[in-house]
Amino acid sequence: AKYVYDFTEGNRNLKDLLGGKGANLAEMTNLGLPVPPGFTITSEACRHYLAEGAEPDGLSEEVAEHLEALEAQMGRRLGQADDPLLVSVRSGAKFSMPGMMETVLNIGLNDESVHGLAKQAGGNDRFAWDSYRRLIQMFGKTVLGIDGERFEQALDAVKGKRQDTDLDAGELQGLVETFKGIVREETGKDFPTDPREQMRLAVMAVFDSWNAPRAILYRRQERIPADLGTAVNIVAMVFGNVGNDSGTGVAFTRDPGSGRQGIYGDYLQNAQGEDVVAGIRNTIPLEELERIDKQSYDELLAIMRTLENHYKDLCDIEFTIERGKLWMLQTRVGKRTAAAAFRIATQLVDQGLITLDEAVTRVTGDQLAQLMFPRFDGGAAKQKIAKGMNASPGAAVGKAVFSSERAVELSEQGEDVILIRRETNPDDLAGMIAAKGILTSRGGKTSHAAVVARGMGKTCVCGAEELEVSTRERTFTAPGGVVVSEGDVISIDGTSGEVFLGEVPVVDSAVVEYFERGIQDDDLVGAVDRIMRRADAARRLGVRANADTPEDAARARRFGGEGIGLCRTEHMFLGERRQLVEDLVLASTDEDRQAALDALEPLQKTDFLGIFQAMGGDPVTIRLIDPPLHEFLPDIVDLSVKAATDEATEKDHQLLAAVKRLHEQNPMLGLRGVRLGLVIPGLFAMQVRAIAQAAKEVPGAKPEIMIPLVAAVQELESVREEARGILAEVGVEALIGTMIEVPRAALTAAQIAEAAEFFSFGTNDLTQMAWGFSRDDVESAFFPKYLDLGIFGVSPFETLDREGVGRLVEIAVAEGRSARPDLHLGICGEHGGDPDSIHFCHDVGLDYVSCSPFRIPVARLEAGRAAL
Ligand code: PEP
Ligand code: MG
Repeated sequence: AKYVYDFTEGNRNLKDLLGGKGANLAEMTNLGLPVPPGFTITSEACRHYLAEGAEPDGLSEEVAEHLEALEAQMGRRLGQADDPLLVSVRSGAKFSMPGMMETVLNIGLNDESVHGLAKQAGGNDRFAWDSYRRLIQMFGKTVLGIDGERFEQALDAVKGKRQDTDLDAGELQGLVETFKGIVREETGKDFPTDPREQMRLAVMAVFDSWNAPRAILYRRQERIPADLGTAVNIVAMVFGNVGNDSGTGVAFTRDPGSGRQGIYGDYLQNAQGEDVVAGIRNTIPLEELERIDKQSYDELLAIMRTLENHYKDLCDIEFTIERGKLWMLQTRVGKRTAAAAFRIATQLVDQGLITLDEAVTRVTGDQLAQLMFPRFDGGAAKQKIAKGMNASPGAAVGKAVFSSERAVELSEQGEDVILIRRETNPDDLAGMIAAKGILTSRGGKTSHAAVVARGMGKTCVCGAEELEVSTRERTFTAPGGVVVSEGDVISIDGTSGEVFLGEVPVVDSAVVEYFERGIQDDDLVGAVDRIMRRADAARRLGVRANADTPEDAARARRFGGEGIGLCRTEHMFLGERRQLVEDLVLASTDEDRQAALDALEPLQKTDFLGIFQAMGGDPVTIRLIDPPLHEFLPDIVDLSVKAATDEATEKDHQLLAAVKRLHEQNPMLGLRGVRLGLVIPGLFAMQVRAIAQAAKEVPGAKPEIMIPLVAAVQELESVREEARGILAEVGVEALIGTMIEVPRAALTAAQIAEAAEFFSFGTNDLTQMAWGFSRDDVESAFFPKYLDLGIFGVSPFETLDREGVGRLVEIAVAEGRSARPDLHLGICGEHGGDPDSIHFCHDVGLDYVSCSPFRIPVARLEAGRAAL
């Protein structure tokens, strides 16, 4: 295998092999943009190294060849004492991953070549020693695993209140000695001075960082497969820290927060790489570069236009200016907020860069869902205490916490928390995931906090510089002396950047207003509207709602639902009607039972009337009652306690005896669904009669009667006979079908389809029974461990397990349709609103998905994307 690619050999389609960074460096090189020369070690080499514990044969020779070629091209050898070539070693997986080792700069420096570097820079000793101390610091932290704080503290001790740029050559040389001492102390070895050894160790460290705990955590959060490995880029160094005619920056071709066009970026003079993102010194807005170095600025803008036209999308960029010469160090299609995604997609259509179909595929259901989050009530009284940058939108309210650990701890106790840090770094990842929102006092829109929060769709306000954050005392002080301590509630607005004391009430989003009332008063809603119309026109899947009240039914319709796919009738028996069900189940005589049924029937008829009226002529699938019995019976423990007291009446004792008789060890596998209908005479008949009579009163009503938990066709047949009789009696037509939620039903679908006019996959129960996972228990009990172990990347109750549960669905679809070609097929488990599962439903040829009313827009969009 070929393990090393020169930048001139790759291109952007090789992300699997070269990682995102390597592939795009190659692409930029081929576009003729100013990229420092270099090469990429493939992720395949990394996979081999991780699997075998050793690098693949031939890798070191291949790396040596490419290094020699680079040295020849640059006219300098790596670390050459009098005129050194220096390189950076940078990780770069297929998907960008903040948890991994990022970069070691200035590799090739040692006690000799530091003088050569100074000479190269025209006798600039300060620059050379600054580069050397940076190497030891970065190498020490990321390659040797030394706590970065040690170096920070030593640096702070020399720096005092000055900026790092104020240190002179002598001080920096002193720091190099101090840093070397730290390395010796912490590792028991000297800092490696052989340039090739430095490079080799850095490459191995990048490989190893694939399995750093933070990287694992990030992958799980973002659902990135665990076995991809990372590529490693070796790039000839260019220097942003030579003086004030040099610097480094990051830029976006459009605002990743709003999607609006303009100049967005941060620049830092006389600085190297990580300084910008780490928030070491405060950056200046990119526009100001025009004043500092107009030529580089103009060139950068031209390159940004080239990149946008080439990638046909928002790009983010890292660049360095070395003594007035611009260099591109990275680009990629940039992360963006949900609002920006919709705006940019439609802007690109208007610019003629992409089609509207492509625009639909550029946005996701998850992004749409984010736009439907509530925001703060503009009219509510609020006490604003600070304003930072609007780094990632949304409205978050929670208790202030000042460390990642505490965020995790409190959120595990069910508390909403806002994580507050001066600035975040990859160590804060767990806390960022646990928090409702993130607030920092340092760093810009490209800081770690901002980038990671945007990626997660989490509310974030960053760079609120008026706040004095003390993580040690767990407080922050706002202007005017307001002190917020751990546990105090604050509210942060990631759309405006504002920070409020206390809890601010939240209201619906503009996008929800649009779905609810068609109100279209801003460009974001306009973009959503265009994309939704196209998605609706493109999709093959119908979208229905899981709804069991007229209010939910009406909302579902407003949100674009085309019917009800699941009306859970047991939800109609809660509250005061529970008693009637209890009477029914516990009735010991036919008279008692009939009395309970007679009391229920008119109530049920009213329920169905309301729903039919709300749904107009759209189909309404009514699932006959499916209660796990225990939910409708008095608690056996309470009853036993009561029966043991003197106050217990004869009735209490009878009740206890009856409940004991019906008590089940596994109610979810017990007397539920069709079983209950068959065991309690008259129950299903009562419901069917109520449905038929309600339908008769609403012109155009389209009832569909659905039998739950069927495992054998015989169950269905006997219920169907009775239902047909009642429908004929009342003079109403309705389809009669079944849920497929027991594996046996899926496997005998051909038989079952003989007796069913439609199937609706109840994938909640189907998942429960296919995996043998109690759906009420396992997610909190041991799924975290299963996720840790990588047994699955996401709960099968959230995203349909295609291999197992999906296989059952496929079998049932094929068998069912072979027995009855016009069999209508849908899904009504929670998966009906999950993007990945919706794509599966499209692929296996279902006719519709059904989900909760609020997910309907998401389902419409994803169904459209699946079809395009
Ligand atoms: C299902 O099992 O997927 C289903 C929709 O029914 P319920 O969730 O009511 O059991
Ligand atoms: Mg079910």
